[in-house]
Amino acid sequence: MKSENIYNGTGSGADTSCNSTGVADNIYAAFGISSGVAALVKEAEEKVRHRFAGIDEICEYNTMKVVRAMQECNVSEACMLETTGYGYNDVGRDRLEEVYARIFGTEDALVRSQIVCGTHALATALFGNTRPGDEILSPVGMPYDTLQQVLGVTEGRGSLKEYGVSFRYVDLLPDGGFDYEGIRAAINDRTRLVEIQRSRGYAERRSFSVAEIGELISFIRSIRPDLIFMVDNCYGEYTELTEPSQAGADMVVGSLIKNPGGGIAPVGGYIAGTHECVENAAMWLTAPGLGKELGPSLGNNRLLYQGTFLAPTVTAAAEKAAVLASAVFERLGFTANPGAEEVRHDIIESIRLGSPELVISFCRGIQKAAAVDAFAAPEPAPMPGYESDIIMAAGCFISGSSIELSADGPLREPYQVFFQGGLTYPHGKLGIMKAVQQMLDDGLIRL
Ligand SMILES: *Cc1c(COP(=O)(O)O)cnc(C)c1O
Repeated sequence: MKSENIYNGTGSGADTSCNSTGVADNIYAAFGISSGVAALVKEAEEKVRHRFAGIDEICEYNTMKVVRAMQECNVSEACMLETTGYGYNDVGRDRLEEVYARIFGTEDALVRSQIVCGTHALATALFGNTRPGDEILSPVGMPYDTLQQVLGVTEGRGSLKEYGVSFRYVDLLPDGGFDYEGIRAAINDRTRLVEIQRSRGYAERRSFSVAEIGELISFIRSIRPDLIFMVDNCYGEYTELTEPSQAGADMVVGSLIKNPGGGIAPVGGYIAGTHECVENAAMWLTAPGLGKELGPSLGNNRLLYQGTFLAPTVTAAAEKAAVLASAVFERLGFTANPGAEEVRHDIIESIRLGSPELVISFCRGIQKAAAVDAFAAPEPAPMPGYESDIIMAAGCFISGSSIELSADGPLREPYQVFFQGGLTYPHGKLGIMKAVQQMLDDGLIRL
């Protein structure tokens, strides 16, 4: 009896000789991907292949930037060792923070396993750098969902608002540009810190380039040179040659289970910036007087270094997958943002699907492409920190990691799904094929 394996297609009895196209077709069949879907995705891939060279160039530059930073900091085998307890003299941790400071072009950095996620990193930066009576200004509209509870825009126990720090925002103009006059009018005696979110989050707006963020900072600085400029850098790291900290930001903040952790960091967040800002944040993270001195890296140093090393490559893979997703879904008649030919400033692709059924179907398809938990069927559910029910497809090695192939969306108008990640491009492509196939199988689209 001939044993069945995925290479000859389940039960197809196909020729197992190493005929390359046959083998490839059979593995698509094993994944339940029809030849129509495979052809559609392949055609879209050919259309956007010319975009990949630019992404590769940025990846090469950023890889060299990271390696150079590690060399200049004399990263050694001893840096990979485990520490415990208070974490005094944690050489690996301290040197990794120097590496980050070099990569981001800042005086200092805080890169810690004790920072649980991006929201925690941002909250730490905000609480550490504001005092009662201060006001935080967002000149780019309402910040990311989870930040709204930190700020106290939505009821949140322990919010900045409870500590006497107020918040104000200025919406973007209808064309997506900065409302310079509105921003000028919003600045007042209390204004202390300006928060600029680089990526779109769950909002229907553009992501900003480093150059645009630089212009915005220059404008506000010309009015008030004493303000602190913080950039929520989530999902933007390594998508350009420079980071917002090299365009005037005093602090850039992000999560290690997104771009900068390279899919390897098991947890963590970073704050890179001026000594003053980083010290203030560190006092809030641990305790006044303790600051950066404490906080063991535990057994995570090697993973954090390796993740940092891989981050430019993994980010490039995710970007290519995002470009492919835009081309595929545009071809299917949906609006993808950014469009297939548009310049990107982050790894997020938002696709306006227009109905809750399509959002759910899309996410189920993504889940079916996962290497871990592929059998799970994602369901919309309330999530801490989010305003609407959220559906999340994430079959991940690192729980909740969104640099890994993932898709999510709030179940609210206009029913957009946010596609991101893929530690490798072929995996991102598999996810896209499975998402299209699921929507087809559910009878929600036609090719
Ligand atoms: C992911 C993200 C955050 C933080 O989210 P966590 O899930 O707490 O890591 C903040 N801002 C933006 C724009 C994000 O994309």
